[in-house]
Amino acid sequence: MEWNEFTHWGEHAVRWGANYRRTLRERPVRAQVRPREVFDALPPRPPEDPEDVAEIFKDFERIIMPGMTHWQHPRFFAYFPANAAPASVLAEILANAVAAQCMLWQTSPAATELEQRVIDWLRIALGLPEGFTGVIQDTASTATLAAVLTMRERALGWTGNRTGLAGRRTLRVYASQEVHSSIDRAIWFAGIGADNLVRIPVAGRLRGMRADALREAIAADRAAGLLPAGIVAATGGTSAGACDDVAAIAEVAEEEDLYLHVDAAWAGTAMICPEHRGLWAGIEKADSIVFNPHKWLGAQFDCSIHLLKDEEAQRNTLAITPEYLKTRGMDGIGNLSELSIQLGRRFRALKLWFLVRAEGLGRLRRMIRNHVGWAEELARRLGEEPDVEIVTPPVLSLFTFRHAPAGAPDLDALNQELVERINDEGRIYLTSTLIDGKRAIRFQVGQVETAREDVDAAFRAIRDAIAETTGETESGDAGFRTGEPAGPAQSSSRLR
Ligand code: PLP
Repeated sequence: MEWNEFTHWGEHAVRWGANYRRTLRERPVRAQVRPREVFDALPPRPPEDPEDVAEIFKDFERIIMPGMTHWQHPRFFAYFPANAAPASVLAEILANAVAAQCMLWQTSPAATELEQRVIDWLRIALGLPEGFTGVIQDTASTATLAAVLTMRERALGWTGNRTGLAGRRTLRVYASQEVHSSIDRAIWFAGIGADNLVRIPVAGRLRGMRADALREAIAADRAAGLLPAGIVAATGGTSAGACDDVAAIAEVAEEEDLYLHVDAAWAGTAMICPEHRGLWAGIEKADSIVFNPHKWLGAQFDCSIHLLKDEEAQRNTLAITPEYLKTRGMDGIGNLSELSIQLGRRFRALKLWFLVRAEGLGRLRRMIRNHVGWAEELARRLGEEPDVEIVTPPVLSLFTFRHAPAGAPDLDALNQELVERINDEGRIYLTSTLIDGKRAIRFQVGQVETAREDVDAAFRAIRDAIAETTGETESGDAGFRTGEPAGPAQSSSRLR
């Protein structure tokens, strides 16, 4: 491709992107294709000769787009969001054009220094004390792996990387059942072994680890000659938003000299609003915290902030400087790859900088407050519907519910069918989970362009699907396929 062609198609792509995002409400949220439909529509052999970009673009719209689930759809209420606010998309375009590999300070000083500055902006925005520094990782999974490796090395007196784990005392890490599966994987990859991730029982509305049970588990392990290494706490677990009592857990970590990592991948963003900080009270005592601006804040995936109280612990675990990476006279000057698993680093700070400047913390806070308020309102309305149970009440903007008509033989199957019916219909997209062994439907509000009307539409879509499962189909609302109007907030790119 020539650069003049790039200019032409680049302008086309930007216009296409803006139009796509403005008109998302006209599309079903979840892809409606069957398995292999896209694969079979693609030619089996690669082209020998150059193809016309116009043709490639046409196939992109014809073959690829129908097979996409629209994560930026304002009626995406599944999983957690993976937002991409317009300002961050713009910055990604620039970062892609510049295409720097920012592994060392010297390989792009501005990328390193902007990263350090925006991390500090976010530290301030989250209300964390001075002293926390950090790094932008690709995902929370990587940040958690780095943290678990650090707790392992710290427990082994910084010798595990050199001598391996064979013949050592068995390492133990503590977390509740509510933490994300990325914690399990970090334990596997760190060579600690799934059996040594000790699950501490939870209690209370926030499903937080019981500090007394944590203490007992650690004492029992020490008595058995095992080696406690660290604790992973959750602020905003994935199933139901579980929040550990960080202050109580940190006290145990301090008493036992254990490394404390807090996974706030989703809920961390809400801490830009001071009224939500009670959910992680005591956070200043953590050694390591991860939160994903690519989830709720609006920075395009991937962008995960890993805050560290003592960078040196992580550097001692991950840094290595072979001869070919030495930057004579500049070594030790903020080489951020020393704090990450991979050597290569994308220029991720740019999208955060654009986002925070273009929206301002004030507008981002308003968005979070709206999402939390609308989720609470919806939980209230659904809870008033006949036979609907709120299984876990809203934690920030996440709650779970289920349809539980008396006498139904299998509520789990009924609710699974309900989710599938809702997603096949297309107006909204939801997922399900298990809460205490019971199938429940998750609902979270978090897409940056979601409006109150979209949450209303969700109420109608859920109510209609319930009516269909119970055979009462006279609901007044048209479904997506029969043309529910696109909605009043159709063309704004404003965060709500
Ligand atoms: N932690 C929590 C609480 C999550 O909900 C998720 C993903 O949804 C993750 C970690 C993993 O995030 P990532 O995809 O950035 O690795």
